[in-house]
Amino acid sequence: MKSADIDALVSFDQQHLWHPYASMHNPPPAYPVVAAEGARLRLADGRELIDGMSSWWSAIHGYNHPVLNQAASAQLATMSHVMFGGITHPPAVALGRKLLEICPPGLSRIFYSDSGSVAVEVAIKMAFQYWLGQGQHQRSKLLTVRNGYHGDTFGAMSVCDPVNGMHHLFQPIMQQHLFAEAPGCAFDEAFTEDHVADVKRLLLQHNDVIAALIIEPIVQGAGGMRFYSPAYLQRLRQLCDEYGILLIADEIATGFGRSGKLFACEHAAISPDILCLGKAITGGYLSFAATLCTDNVAEKVCSGEAGALMHGPTFMANPLACAVAGASIDLLLSQNWHANVQRIEALLKQHLAPAREFATVADVRVLGAIGVLEMKQPVDMVSIQRRFVDNGIWVRPFGKLVYIMPPYVISDTELVTLAANLVKVVATP
Ligand SMILES: *Cc1c(COP(=O)(O)O)cnc(C)c1O
Repeated sequence: MKSADIDALVSFDQQHLWHPYASMHNPPPAYPVVAAEGARLRLADGRELIDGMSSWWSAIHGYNHPVLNQAASAQLATMSHVMFGGITHPPAVALGRKLLEICPPGLSRIFYSDSGSVAVEVAIKMAFQYWLGQGQHQRSKLLTVRNGYHGDTFGAMSVCDPVNGMHHLFQPIMQQHLFAEAPGCAFDEAFTEDHVADVKRLLLQHNDVIAALIIEPIVQGAGGMRFYSPAYLQRLRQLCDEYGILLIADEIATGFGRSGKLFACEHAAISPDILCLGKAITGGYLSFAATLCTDNVAEKVCSGEAGALMHGPTFMANPLACAVAGASIDLLLSQNWHANVQRIEALLKQHLAPAREFATVADVRVLGAIGVLEMKQPVDMVSIQRRFVDNGIWVRPFGKLVYIMPPYVISDTELVTLAANLVKVVATP
């Protein structure tokens, strides 16, 4: 683009377009991206950046993928959308079949929606209606752990970490739920019963009002980028069974291979009663999500006074999104995705390791295709992002967390450059 055109674009953006968690008084810079391909973003001025974010976990196959493009255009030529009330269509059914084949066992009913947050809202409604169906109206509390992130809508926000998301701002108009200590047992650490002491305390104290426990399996995403022990998750599953409450697994970030398993629940060999999927479900092409549940949950939900699950978005089961999601899953399963995620994990471990020596770095951790540098102090986002861009990489830190989860198609050379340049930028304050 010509530089005058770039200026006009950026200037309109700054004056009129809101960005995530951004001010309009004093808008932070937004880099104009005009194209993307594979693991690269192209800026309007012609520079290329190696993408470390997969557009927030979603673009697992990289950008502009011929297979996903083909699936989208074929569906576009047929029917891009039709309502799901009283109608069904082949892409919805084909995607449903695939999801039931690959998701943790026991899940059999699927609710399609438009975004991760909505998938969480639907999960919360399912859990609440499950108890309504059994005449237990008092079971309206969710139990969760600190450092979680479940989305930005009110129900989802009410189970996000109450401190680090600034969600306390909304306290007066938000449901109050129960927060146990964050999982204190890191991925490779030995689990002991002490690690669930706080969860057990809350279960005992509030047993009669809890509907469900909601948690991100193994990887806590935007609420702290921490990886916890599979044995901890196993124990939570047992505790939910002991107390007869539902387990909601939010795999919106972890689903589709990111943690080294197709779904993070597999690390612990458990199945939730309700599962939320989003982000990578369409390979980053369209906003789409799904909430799955067991026969038992569906049966109780539908035996209540309402006789139905009380939710139904306009764009439910959007055919275009379903078609691309189906193609994205086929594409993933058609490759040795597991070895590929292991390749990324090994390179991240090797090339992020030097940052351990920095006085400013508190921790370096890697799981699957996720690499995290936890800093001792929050970074200055605007200046560090400019330096990332100047070094040809796209990384979007958050607070003390500088993290990457690149598209699985990233080459060894691109990945080594991404990690090395990230470490180089972080090395100089
Ligand atoms: C991103 C995310 C959500 C919210 O998804 P949106 O599509 O942004 O609404 C919910 N849960 C987890 C774990 C997430 O990472």
